[in-house]
Amino acid sequence: MTVRTRVAPSPTGDPHVGTAYIALFNRCFAHQHGGQFVLRIEDTDQTRSTSQSEQMILDSLRWLGLDWDEGPDVGGPHGPYRQSERKDMYRQYAEQLLEKGHAFKCYRTSEELDALRAELKEKGENRALKPSDLELGADEQAAREAQGAPYVIRMRVPTDGRCEIDDMLRGTVELDWALVDAQILLKSDGMPTYHLANIVDDHLMEITHVIRGEEWLNSAPKHKLLYEYFGWDMPVLCHMPLLRNPDKSKLSKRKNPTSILFYQRMGYLPQALVNYLGRMGWSMPDESEKFSLAQMQEAFDIQRVSLGGPVFDVEKLSWLNGQWLREQSDEQFLDSLLNWAYNRDYAMKIIPHLRQRVETLSEVADKAAFCFNGMPAISEASFEHKQYSAEDMKVWLQYLLWTYEARGDWNRDGLFADAKAIADALEVKIKDFLFPVFVAIAGTSASFSVVDSMEIIGSDVSRARIRHAIEVLGGVSKKQMKKLEKAYRDLPVG
Ligand code: GLU
Repeated sequence: MTVRTRVAPSPTGDPHVGTAYIALFNRCFAHQHGGQFVLRIEDTDQTRSTSQSEQMILDSLRWLGLDWDEGPDVGGPHGPYRQSERKDMYRQYAEQLLEKGHAFKCYRTSEELDALRAELKEKGENRALKPSDLELGADEQAAREAQGAPYVIRMRVPTDGRCEIDDMLRGTVELDWALVDAQILLKSDGMPTYHLANIVDDHLMEITHVIRGEEWLNSAPKHKLLYEYFGWDMPVLCHMPLLRNPDKSKLSKRKNPTSILFYQRMGYLPQALVNYLGRMGWSMPDESEKFSLAQMQEAFDIQRVSLGGPVFDVEKLSWLNGQWLREQSDEQFLDSLLNWAYNRDYAMKIIPHLRQRVETLSEVADKAAFCFNGMPAISEASFEHKQYSAEDMKVWLQYLLWTYEARGDWNRDGLFADAKAIADALEVKIKDFLFPVFVAIAGTSASFSVVDSMEIIGSDVSRARIRHAIEVLGGVSKKQMKKLEKAYRDLPVG
C-alpha cells in the first residue's frame, strides 16, 4: 500500500498557521513512508471561498517549503484537485445513497427546523435532529415534491447507541449517536457539503491516512457511516491537537496573529516557523529544539505527538527565529534580508510616496522605517489631539479594525472609502479620523498617505498595528466590546 495523505484547506480567508501545521505533519508522514502528499482545495462554500485566498494559501505553504506532490497547480493523476471543479460528480454519489435508502430528501424549511429544535429543547432532550423528526408524511412529501419545493439530501443516522472511532493517537474513541444529526449531504443548490465531498474525494484520491485537526473528531461517526454506506474502506484517522493561545483558549486571531503572511511580513524565517510548528505537540527523539524540515522528516514518528494542547507562543517563536538568524553567515543573513523586504520590488512601492518629501537621500531611511519595522514605538501620548480624547480614538480604531477584517481586497482606495464611511457616520472630519490611524501605522501623523502606507505594509501588519494601538490606548474590556459591537452594527454606514 502506498501511503497517501492530504491537506484540504477551505480558501475562505488568510492562510492560517493551523493549515501549515496540519500540512507539515501530513507531509512528514507521507514522505517518511515513501508516499505522496496531496493538496486539495475544499471550496464548496461558494459564498465564502475566493481565488485570492487560495493563491495566498498556495504561496504561503510554498514559502514554508511545504510543497505537495499533487494539487490544483501541479496536477496529478487524481485531479481536478479543486472541489468546485468536481461538483458535478458529487450528486451521483448522493443519489446512490438515496436509491439504497441510506439518505432521504428533506423538504423542511428553515422555520420548521427552528421549530423542531425548539421543541427538542422544550422537552429537555439533548440530542440532534434525526430522520424520524425530519421526514414528512407521504402526502405532504408528495405535495411539496409536486410544487417543486427546494429540498436537501440528508444521510440516515442511528438514533442512539455508541459509535467507535479508531484514532492513531487516541486509540478507540466512543461517541454518542444521539448527538449526531442527519447531516445534509447535498444542498438545495446542488452543491455538496464538506462531509460528502470530503469522503468522496478521499476515496477517489486514494487517501490512506487522514491527519487533521481535533475539531473534526465529532464528524468522524458520520464519515465512518458514509464509508460503510458506500462500501469503501475508510482511511486511518488521526486527529491532531488544536493549537492554543498562551491562555490555552483555541488559537484565534483576536489574541494572536494567525495568518502565515503576518509572520512572513514581520521577518520570521520560513525555516524557523516550520521548526516551531514542528514542535507543536511533537518533539525530536533527542528533544533538540532547533531542527530543519529535513531533520524532522528523517526522525518523524507520529506516535510522538502528545495530546496536551500545544501553545503557539509568539515570544517562543521569536526566540527560535533568533537562533536561526544567529546561525546564519553574514552572507546568508544578507540573502534573508534581500528576500524579505530589502529589495527593488518592495522599495519601488515606497519610493513614489517618499521622493517628494526629502531633500537628501540620508532622510529616506528614517521616513521609510515604519515600512520595515514591527510594531511602532508609541504610547498614549502619541495620540494627543486638540479636540478628541484617547477614548474617542480607541473606538474609531476598533470600528475601523472590524471593517478592515471584513475586507477582501486590500487597496488604498477601498481602505480610504471604508475610513470615510465610518468618519461620515460618526460625523468626524476625515482628517481627524485618520489621525490615530497615522499614529497606529506610521508612529506619527507626519508621514505620507496612511492608506498608501497600509497598502504597502499589507493587511496583516496593518491590522496588527491597529490592534496594537487599541491596546496602547488602554484596550477594550469584554463589557465595552459588547457595547461597541452593537454600536458598530447600528452605525449608519452607507
Ligand atoms: N476543509 C476542511 C478544513 O478546512 C478539511 C478538514 C479535513 O481535513 O477533513 O479544515
